[in-house]
Amino acid sequence: MVKRGATLEDGFGRVHDSLRIGVTDRCNIRCFYCMPESGAEYAERREILSFEEIERFARIAAELGVTKLRVTGGEPLVRRELPLLIERLAAIPGVTDLALTTNGVLLESLARPLYEAGLRRLNVHLDTLDRGRFRQIARCDDLAKVLAGLEAAQKAGFDVIKLNAVALKNLTEPDIVPLARFGRERGFEVRYIEFMPLDGQALWDRGKVLLADEIIAVLSREIAPLVPVAGRDRRAPATEYAFADGIGKVGLIASISRPFCGDCNRLRLTADGKLRYCLFAIEEDDVKTVMRSGAGDERIAALIRSNVARKWVGHEIGNARFVAPPRAMYSIGG
Ligand code: SAM
Ligand code: SF4
Repeated sequence: MVKRGATLEDGFGRVHDSLRIGVTDRCNIRCFYCMPESGAEYAERREILSFEEIERFARIAAELGVTKLRVTGGEPLVRRELPLLIERLAAIPGVTDLALTTNGVLLESLARPLYEAGLRRLNVHLDTLDRGRFRQIARCDDLAKVLAGLEAAQKAGFDVIKLNAVALKNLTEPDIVPLARFGRERGFEVRYIEFMPLDGQALWDRGKVLLADEIIAVLSREIAPLVPVAGRDRRAPATEYAFADGIGKVGLIASISRPFCGDCNRLRLTADGKLRYCLFAIEEDDVKTVMRSGAGDERIAALIRSNVARKWVGHEIGNARFVAPPRAMYSIGG
């Protein structure tokens, strides 16, 4: 066991207490900004970490000060027996916050088992309520399944459900207001995410990003003025705003127009066992090979510390020096 009570601090004084865990790089839909329509490159099954390996890594990270875990992918719900992993992660001493990000397609049948396994926080990815645009973005016709999944999740007892909406210029402008209205009616907080260069197909350019300020202006004009929420966790990626009429909140993840690297507290473990200190990192540490070579906990802890210590000051999107990471979003774990 690693000595407890440590913190994972990088060279810029940022304390890391949040770990995102990709449990698969596979997905049952094909959002164009994350995956190619065909020919996605998946890791071979034997390269994917087992539940035992994931749990062990998460436990060591928790001993080093990680308190928040988020399970993601690819699409985490396509990983068989996921509730068993959730149960194991929820039981790790020191983990106070366990969340999951899903596209919702399989949520209708899995919401209850996930809740019973100890999951309490869900982010469901939903860019649009329009069936045609959903088809255009996700290249499938599963909007009704996502909506059924949301209903099932509320019935199962999840009371904190956030909706993740990727904001795309010249595409999702008509969705901004209907999504916020839907959130206000049903009790979901919509989080608009600026499109990032993680599509793996070089589709991104700045002109395709629907910027946070434009979204705030539209919502304030069409629904009610938005007021920044006071006392929020400044390390959370989303800046939260409340509607001035008192009904509901939205979040803006302005990775492009207002990068939040200065407050970053996150690490990522990919489904194939690589540790990354940034979504946009080029280098990564091969946790899986070290684990499978029989390394003890101390050696894995040293690898985590060294990864954090090497963390850069931040991404340089928009700068000539920026290089898109060699992995696309689905294989990093968003
Ligand atoms: N499949 C799950 C889902 O879609 O929520 C979890 C993994 S997905 C990679 C995590 C989140 O990444 C999604 O909710 C989506 O909003 C976001 N995302 C994917 N590609 C993105 C991109 N290029 N720019 C911004 N956000 C992106
Ligand atoms: Fe799949 Fe999520 Fe990527 Fe969409 S964003 S293709 S649902 S992994």
